[in-house]
Amino acid sequence: MKELQYLNKYFVKYKYHFLSGIVITIVSQIFSSFAPRLVSDSFAVVQKHFEAGNVDKIWVESRLWRNIMLILVTTLISGFLLFITRQTLIVMSRHIEFDLKNEVFRQYERLSQSFYKRNRTGDLMNRISEDVGKTRMYVGPAVMYSIQTLIRFIVVIAFMAGKSVELTIYTLLPLPLLSYAIFKLSTQINKRSTTFQQYLSKVSSFTQEVFSGVRVIKAYSLEKQQQDRMVELSLESKAKSMSLAKVQSLFGPLMIALIGASNLVVIYFGGMMYINNDPDIPNIGVIAEFILYVNMLTWPVASLGWVSSMVQEAEASQKRINEFLKIEPDIKNHNPEYSEISGSIEFKNVTFTYDDTGITALKKMSFKVDKGETLAILGKTGSGKSTVLSLVSRLYDVSSGEVLVDGTPIEKLNLNDLRDNVGTVPQDAFLFSDSIKNNIRFGKEDATEEEVIASAKLAAVHDNIAAFNLQYETILGERGITLSGGQKQRVSIARAAIRDPKVLLLDDCLSAVDTETEETILGNLLDFCKDKTTIIVSHRVSSAKNADRILILDGGTIIQQGTHNQLLNEEGYYRELYLKQLSEKELT
Ligand code: ADP
Ligand code: MG
Repeated sequence: MKELQYLNKYFVKYKYHFLSGIVITIVSQIFSSFAPRLVSDSFAVVQKHFEAGNVDKIWVESRLWRNIMLILVTTLISGFLLFITRQTLIVMSRHIEFDLKNEVFRQYERLSQSFYKRNRTGDLMNRISEDVGKTRMYVGPAVMYSIQTLIRFIVVIAFMAGKSVELTIYTLLPLPLLSYAIFKLSTQINKRSTTFQQYLSKVSSFTQEVFSGVRVIKAYSLEKQQQDRMVELSLESKAKSMSLAKVQSLFGPLMIALIGASNLVVIYFGGMMYINNDPDIPNIGVIAEFILYVNMLTWPVASLGWVSSMVQEAEASQKRINEFLKIEPDIKNHNPEYSEISGSIEFKNVTFTYDDTGITALKKMSFKVDKGETLAILGKTGSGKSTVLSLVSRLYDVSSGEVLVDGTPIEKLNLNDLRDNVGTVPQDAFLFSDSIKNNIRFGKEDATEEEVIASAKLAAVHDNIAAFNLQYETILGERGITLSGGQKQRVSIARAAIRDPKVLLLDDCLSAVDTETEETILGNLLDFCKDKTTIIVSHRVSSAKNADRILILDGGTIIQQGTHNQLLNEEGYYRELYLKQLSEKELT
């Protein structure tokens, strides 16, 4: 129960739902316990009539009618109150589920990149749907049934003991057995259901990956192979599900057997007491009353087993949720105050190692970009170019050395202000399955139509968009059209540009764009970036030509630097690349 204590704050938050639920349950249980009494009374009246022989028939009949009406009324009232109970307690659990889901989602957004590399999407999805769902079973049904059971026990046992303490004891004898058996069974069900859940999770992770990678699978014609793997996983999960069903199917028969046993106990001992003229059992109506009580107690006792397994599951789920709510993001905002960013960037002896791979991507790197300057970074794949950009927007913190923005160590700046002022166009131009307009506006939510169009023009993608039937309302991704690599990159540039950031980071974002369009965009950017600090990563010399300075990276260190003209006069990567790309251009 330790883990579930986390949820107590929600019971406090919804205390009115909770308390009124409890009060209404008490009243409802009292009303539902009248029926056995009335049945007992009816038996007694009929029995008396037979034994005496000459009791007023009309009176007996009217008494029976009275009892029937009372049973009807009390049952209706108790049923209605039960409905209200659900309205309070179950509705409370839905509110809590909503709050908890939001809490988990907020935490997801808080966590850093490295967290997402350690965890699979399938697992993250499960946490927010499955696990929160399980905890809801605890705050809703489990709590409701526990309250109902407790109150029903108190009420019914009080009613029973009022009639006969001895018979009450006999009646209750089989119940511990019942609840033990059901607890055992529930634990088994629980165990097997957990394994089954794990398999379900595997299956859904697998399918999810197949769906997202469907193009690759088709291109390599791996359908058969994936199908086989799917069949294998499904068979395993089917086996787990069957083993779960086996224990689950024992549940019903076991209940019926044990209720039957209790009934036999009541009939036997009650009958013996009646025959022996026990004053507690003046008529056989009391025996009927006890049988009804037993049946009223059985479901709650059975539900105890069920509830305990729900609680166990919720505990396991809440444990996972808690573990993960406790994770602190690697990248924290150390400064709640507003930070003004103007945009000069300096790397001082920066070394950076990726924790998970142990790869040291940058080694003692130092360079400086002044406000309004443009720096181009060139180098082979894996030389550390993207890593430099990640450090500027603080997606990671350096392992040693310092990144300074406007002369202040980057960790000392307000993280949100920093990121607000940095526009990044990542290497993989990720777009959401939403309209083009909203994708561009993602960079600035309150952007006007004109601003959207202006930044699309800047990124030289306006003409492409205008050619679509729905223009800026065209839906992208899963539910809509797929843009070409170059179009995606340009929409992604428009998204960064619309923020009008102080610092613009372009990570090889023109790689899929033809050279002519590249020229246009670079020309547009030249003007746009006049007062911005720009770092442009590229593998093309043409992108670097306009830069104030060019860095050549290899293996995480700067091997050459200078202006375009300086580097052209130096032997090395830049000159080779220039000559190579020059001849390529002439060939085409
Ligand atoms: P570039 O952008 O120049 O191609 P990167 O900066 O992406 O190079 O990568 C530099 C090195 O760091 C590479 O060896 C790469 O394998 C490694 N690396 C890049 N990103 C990650 C990451 N997220 N986690 C672990 N290692 C990474
Ligand atoms: Mg890269």
